[in-house]
Amino acid sequence: MSRPSKPSKHICLKATMSLTCGGQESNRKFKKLPPSEWTHLFHSVPFDISEMDALTREIDALKPKVKNMLISSQGIESMKKKILFIYLLVSLGLGYHFEDEIEESLQQSFENIDNLMVGEDDLYTVSIIFWVLRTYGHNMCSDVFKRFKMSNGEFKESLIEDKKGMLSLYEAAQLRTTTEFIMEDALRFASGHLESLAADKTCPSHISRRIQSALSLSQHWNMEILAIMEYIPFYEQEEDHNHLLLKFAKINFNLLQLHYLQELKTVTKWYKDLDLASNLPPYFKDRIVENHFLVTGFYFEPQFSRERIMLTKFFTVSLLLDDTCDRYASLPEADSLAECLERWAPNDVMQRQPDYLKYVFNFILDVFEDFERERRSEGRSYSVKATVEEFKTLVRANVDLGKWARAARIPSFEEYMDVGEVEAAVYSTMPAILMGMGHIANEEVYEWLKSRPKLVQVICTKTRLMNDMAGFEDDTSRGNVTTGVYCYMKQYGVTKKEAIRKLNEMVAYNDNILNEEFLKTIHIPRQVLKIAINFARVINVTYNEGEGYTHPEGKIKEYITSLFVNRICL
Ligand SMILES: [Mg+2]
Repeated sequence: MSRPSKPSKHICLKATMSLTCGGQESNRKFKKLPPSEWTHLFHSVPFDISEMDALTREIDALKPKVKNMLISSQGIESMKKKILFIYLLVSLGLGYHFEDEIEESLQQSFENIDNLMVGEDDLYTVSIIFWVLRTYGHNMCSDVFKRFKMSNGEFKESLIEDKKGMLSLYEAAQLRTTTEFIMEDALRFASGHLESLAADKTCPSHISRRIQSALSLSQHWNMEILAIMEYIPFYEQEEDHNHLLLKFAKINFNLLQLHYLQELKTVTKWYKDLDLASNLPPYFKDRIVENHFLVTGFYFEPQFSRERIMLTKFFTVSLLLDDTCDRYASLPEADSLAECLERWAPNDVMQRQPDYLKYVFNFILDVFEDFERERRSEGRSYSVKATVEEFKTLVRANVDLGKWARAARIPSFEEYMDVGEVEAAVYSTMPAILMGMGHIANEEVYEWLKSRPKLVQVICTKTRLMNDMAGFEDDTSRGNVTTGVYCYMKQYGVTKKEAIRKLNEMVAYNDNILNEEFLKTIHIPRQVLKIAINFARVINVTYNEGEGYTHPEGKIKEYITSLFVNRICL
């Protein structure tokens, strides 16, 4: 239903063109942002449901065969082979089909880990086993890497020849915790040699590509769907690849793409019907497709279609709120919006606000009401309520930060981070991601989230700092000095370069804490903890090569093209 014709369910606000303290709307200066090229494309993309059915049937036929490959063998040697096979399944995007079998098999292997590792001196095997077990939450001891060191404490030079081994060591080191110095050494050792290994003419081109890509963003810290998209063509070039497995992976990937296209049709229709352009000045970022792309980073599997649609809508609301506060609203307008959202109802002041602001307010309430209606039928209204509560803190942090920014205030780094971390929208997005995951995110999980656990806290810090570093030029050009970079520079009297180096160190340390908390937090389902890891991955993809959200024409555009437009040939 198109928004203008939809009667407001909450309030009746009279249309007025009033003066505000920030000046008349018509005189307001703001940066006009162009509409997205994607929305129309995906809205009008032809879609054939019978193709989906055909692929599903093929997958149903292949699944038992691959399951057999996974569960058939027994014994220590085959246990190791099984873990290497699980690594393949995960990397090819097939792991979720065999989740129970994988869990069971890894549990068994972990219980036998000492026997499993006796005499094993293959760098690739040890590193992959470490990677897989840690990825599934088993805290395998990193002492296992001691066998690759010499008596002087250095890693053996002979390992350098083993390209795949070195790459897997580098990947294993991405799962390190804060106290694992051997993994820090491993990272230094592997990174130090991988660059020249990739450049070596004798290195097969597909391995060289994989090394370069890992050096820019490792498999562990990349969005799963992007890592899968890279791994399938790599695996195809491996001489010993399994044909059946490769076929399965390609069909599966094509089916995932069709799911995404179907979802994109739904969300772009919703977005077009909203017709934000007729209701708002062009100050907001037009990002419905980019939002959906990033949402695939939280859950890529087909069964999460409904969750992805919901979360894409949530992202749209969050982004609009942020743009409204940061790019257009006067301070009194932003304040009034925050006050009304804190009450979750309009007040007298809102009645006198300009139409655009009333529209934003109503839009936010409407979207949340839709969420509530859906969750209520499952008896999970608490998940929406928790999201609303965190959303209110997000609004307040936006206004508080906006006040500082407009006054060009540079608070102490700690004071800034207290507000800036909330404004980074992680606390409000985490409960939103879990709103749809009724089968695992129960009230206990929401209580845990409400306590703002360390696992989530470190993602806030990471998001805030990466945002501020990547957005440094844009912020500076808008005259915004209330950012982590400036606060750090002022407090410690250092240059921009030094501040960025320090903040990057903080981000890396936070990633180690994240790994640690993932292993340590035992009373919360692993799927929920994995969402936190996935959050960090999405942040990496967003900010790895500049500020992908403000400037999505670079890497993000490439990703959207490869994931949603191009198809893998079967
Ligand atoms: Mg903001």
